[in-house]
Amino acid sequence: MLILSFDELCSKDLAHILQLKDMGFQLKEIQRIFAMIRLGAATPKSEVTYIIEEFQERIRAIESEENVLANRKNTIHSKLEELKALTFKESVEIGVSLKQLSLLACRKCKTSYVPIDAHIKKGYIIEGQLGCDCGSILEVNRGIVVGETFIKNPSSKMDLNMQEVI
Ligand SMILES: [Zn+2]
Repeated sequence: MLILSFDELCSKDLAHILQLKDMGFQLKEIQRIFAMIRLGAATPKSEVTYIIEEFQERIRAIESEENVLANRKNTIHSKLEELKALTFKESVEIGVSLKQLSLLACRKCKTSYVPIDAHIKKGYIIEGQLGCDCGSILEVNRGIVVGETFIKNPSSKMDLNMQEVI
């Protein structure tokens, strides 16, 4: 088998080598192609056939690399979306728990407040108004009760506005 080195090649061969390198051929493969060209010089048809096969093989190898890269890209994309969703979920909103609404009572009529025109999200009042039987109104602003309140059970006072909406 004829082994070629860069020193042995003429400038024309060198141009061909650079072209083959651009196509992604390894040096070992380029040497094989050149060896075939030199050995097959007497039969140009077989020489061309051989090079066609080498090029077709190279295209198949590139397509395989493309698939690997595409899969890699898809994996990164889906992980990226998961991370974006995670960041979104971690944003915390504060609300007034509907379950604990009975702890609030009007200081005049002593009845519990009920939500009126309220934006409720997952069991928590984020924005809106609370009303009782006598018509007293409490505003809920960004999840916090604003205005006069009377609390039936003072020990639960701390829990009222500190509920995080999950
Ligand atoms: Zn009232």
